[in-house]
Amino acid sequence: MIEKIIFASKNKHKIEEIKNMFSGSVKNIIPLDDEYDDIIEDGNSFYENAFIKSNHVYKNLNTVSLGDDSGLCIEALDGKPGIFSARYAGEQATQEQKIEKILIEMNNVSDIEKRKAYFATSAVLIISDNLLIHTKGFVYGLISFEPHGSDGFGYDPIFIPDGYDKTFAELGSEIKNSISHRYIAMAKMSNIISNMYSYANR
Ligand code: IMP
Repeated sequence: MIEKIIFASKNKHKIEEIKNMFSGSVKNIIPLDDEYDDIIEDGNSFYENAFIKSNHVYKNLNTVSLGDDSGLCIEALDGKPGIFSARYAGEQATQEQKIEKILIEMNNVSDIEKRKAYFATSAVLIISDNLLIHTKGFVYGLISFEPHGSDGFGYDPIFIPDGYDKTFAELGSEIKNSISHRYIAMAKMSNIISNMYSYANR
């Protein structure tokens, strides 16, 4: 087990989502203080942004740090919003406005089968100057015609994961957190940590 990891995020929803995922491999996962400087995510990929966040915290706080970056990639929009998911309708836009922008841009995609999309996550754990672990997770699905449900955050109300007929926001956290992109990336990370530390302690 690792004693303590700082999670390079202030997003309370995300912390809640990942806490349980590391229960077998990390004693304490601590989010960033609200006062911590905003980290500028100017990478060109989910991996680069996850690295930027993790490395910022690793360098500043001198501790094992986990960064993640996620987004929604929509086939009919050539992969958009992708790495721009957080600010797709401008810095100040509400989540409702971001969802509305996407639904308007997909107005002409009336065949549900053509509304394919996936959520992606890259997770980067920096343990020391020469030890970094990178994992990825994906969940595939469709974009609904209208928002449904009130659980979760971000684009959850318009994402219907494959194998279900409800959005993430309708399915609720228990189901979402057992199939999501973040769950898959973090479960892989947690497994690697467990294996590494059980090997080291033999
Ligand atoms: P982040 O960089 O991982 O914080 O994610 C960027 C943006 O992607 C968020 O602000 C959300 O709009 C969107 N996003 C990421 N993960 C999810 C999710 O699990 N559900 C819905 N939207 C998400």
